[in-house]
Amino acid sequence: MLRRPLLVRTREELERELESLRGDGERRALVPTMGSLHPGHLSLMDRARELADVLVASVFVNPLQFGPGEDLERYPRELDRDFRLAGERGVDLLFAPDVEVMYPDGHPRVRMDPGPLGDRLCGRFRPGHFQGVLSVVVKLFGMIRPDVAVFGRKDFQQAVLIRRAVLDLELGVEIEVAPLVREPDGLAMSSRNRYLTDEGRRQAVGLYRGLAAARDAYRDGDVSGSVLVERVRAVASEHSGLQLQYVQVVDPVTLEARNEAGSDSVLAAAGFVDDVRLIDNLVLGAGEDDPRCALLE
Ligand code: AMP
Repeated sequence: MLRRPLLVRTREELERELESLRGDGERRALVPTMGSLHPGHLSLMDRARELADVLVASVFVNPLQFGPGEDLERYPRELDRDFRLAGERGVDLLFAPDVEVMYPDGHPRVRMDPGPLGDRLCGRFRPGHFQGVLSVVVKLFGMIRPDVAVFGRKDFQQAVLIRRAVLDLELGVEIEVAPLVREPDGLAMSSRNRYLTDEGRRQAVGLYRGLAAARDAYRDGDVSGSVLVERVRAVASEHSGLQLQYVQVVDPVTLEARNEAGSDSVLAAAGFVDDVRLIDNLVLGAGEDDPRCALLE
């Protein structure tokens, strides 16, 4: 009987354990994370279990995707807890490499260029971020060779880019995008929420409230992109601690701004409470429980 999960820290261990777990015809799933697991991450693991026989999760705080002045140093790291939670969720192998294992030369010399999709939405404000994300995800695909990988709807632009990379480069990995998991008041769950003070936590929900108000307006017949964006801004401004960075109605495939919203349009936003960066998004024509992701489908 397999003792689950196994914690592996090196490439050699990973290779050996993947080999010993691979049965004939068994499907392997990967759930990449930066750790500090919360119910959003765990929902991806539950979904992955449904899709495959062997479940690999990774915990790696990837320096390549953090810009200067971002929170790389203070990003929460709690591997013991992650290991326990992953085990409870049926993870077979938890891959938690050190930076030196992933980048033995300091930095990878070859990196993935996300192209124009990487310059939109969050990419405008986080240059290099999606290059770092794609580079590590493609590397993890190479190391773990999953049949399917599960990502969260919370990071909508990331999911779009990964799907695009898999299609364009024919990487042969199925990409599953799981619904966004929220706190009871609507705040999108995130490892970064733990940086929030009590007051900050109260302000942070303004991002979701703004998006939800705009979705209500859309349902009531407002289809103008700028009117919907204004609706978000108006509600968010009632939360004095919340500074919006961007709000946009975009096409779910090209991520281009839409002047006229349709039911598959995505309303995406980012903002700051204190120094904590928050992101959120909704599909205008879909309810909160609707698993429809409208991504390249
Ligand atoms: P992270 O650890 O923030 O890099 O996230 C790892 C994966 O978990 C990504 O695919 C995220 O989109 C996903 N994820 C993070 N938060 C949530 C959430 N609240 N709901 C669903 N998926 C999430």
